[in-house]
Amino acid sequence: MQKATELNTPPNQPFALTNFQSLGGEDFLVVNGGKIAALGNGRALASDWPKVNVVDCQQATVIPGLMNSHIHAPMGFFRDLGHGKQNMIETFLFPAEKSLTPELIAPLSYSYLVDALKSGTTAVAEHYYFSAGVVQALDRIGMRGFVGETIADLGGAFFGEDNLKRSMDLLKKWPGSSRVRPVLAPHAADTVSLKLQKEVAQIAKSENLHIHMHLSQSVGERERVTKAHGKSPVAVAAQSGLLGSRTIAVHLLTADTEDMKILADTGTTAGLCPSSQVVYHALAPVAEFFRHKIPVALGTDCAASGDNADMLAELKTAALCSMTASAELRTVPAATFLDTAIANPRRFWFGDPGLKVGDSADLTWLDRGIEREPINDLATNLVFSASSRQVRHVLVEGEWILFDRKLTRVSEDDLRQEYLAAVAEIQRRVFA
Ligand SMILES: [Zn+2]
Repeated sequence: MQKATELNTPPNQPFALTNFQSLGGEDFLVVNGGKIAALGNGRALASDWPKVNVVDCQQATVIPGLMNSHIHAPMGFFRDLGHGKQNMIETFLFPAEKSLTPELIAPLSYSYLVDALKSGTTAVAEHYYFSAGVVQALDRIGMRGFVGETIADLGGAFFGEDNLKRSMDLLKKWPGSSRVRPVLAPHAADTVSLKLQKEVAQIAKSENLHIHMHLSQSVGERERVTKAHGKSPVAVAAQSGLLGSRTIAVHLLTADTEDMKILADTGTTAGLCPSSQVVYHALAPVAEFFRHKIPVALGTDCAASGDNADMLAELKTAALCSMTASAELRTVPAATFLDTAIANPRRFWFGDPGLKVGDSADLTWLDRGIEREPINDLATNLVFSASSRQVRHVLVEGEWILFDRKLTRVSEDDLRQEYLAAVAEIQRRVFA
């Protein structure tokens, strides 16, 4: 029996994790070829795997990897600068982003991605410009990703009719491994024309792609769209064919009850980024999402407003902000909030909420430190007591990409140096 700290699981050989605490009550799993080959109770299953390397998890918590459903990783260079500003998107972010060039994107992503990984995140949904760089950054670290190139023809840092072509070029010459998948990423209902919205919806259908977009994210968006089309941003997106069970619409701050019905009827997932939303404007109408049974997926947005990519911190923020905003949410079980980081995004991306045999072994291991004992209810403990300090190992496709809190594929010092050099360059361009 190996202790985790002595672990050196040879690549391509099966290994078992045993004696762990999990959300489903299992305490034994086998990883073979990057996938879960067995999952259940140790006593029942151990005899089926007599020769496999066994890692005794010593009662550590092992859960499906957390999924961050909305980020803009390269916006690390805006860290600390988005606070205390009005109309930040139009007056500050878009003008500054015009100075970006493709070679800066991978290094600018490292801070946010490393932060995500160290908080137990195995997968991120990314939405930005020159996205090939983010694909490469994810592959360098080993994380899973769903990456879209921003599409907009009416506004934004790089809007134009060539946006869709850029997106399609990225799809055709995909620069990453199969661990990182492409999605379509229209910007929002006020920055994408009706014609382009319909084209994107068509391509999503024909190419079988998910859609990741902002929607109804500001009072300004709602006013502009309603003035132009006589309908709300949600209604316009629905009419264009953008909404559905393979679409995540992020923010929805100004969505009303009619919009909620449309979101529920189409099976659209709502992207919730509480920290960022409170900094920008106000928390999304979480109670309405729950009331209408709209699936909710949690994200941290970006360093300009969400600041960090710590999913455990964001879970607690989501739960507390929701309770403050609406008394009826005080009785919602913590497990419902935890679902926004595990079950709901898993259902959205993989079609199934839980971890089962045959799934990719994307796992997060948290220590049983004294600071979160006793664990009387694991879901409640993960939302309210756990912190990223306890995240010790992270596996993607059975590969230990974070081991003893250290990146295994690449030196964090190297990433830090490359990141800070890229930050210095973009700051020179923006502020000189
Ligand atoms: Zn965003």
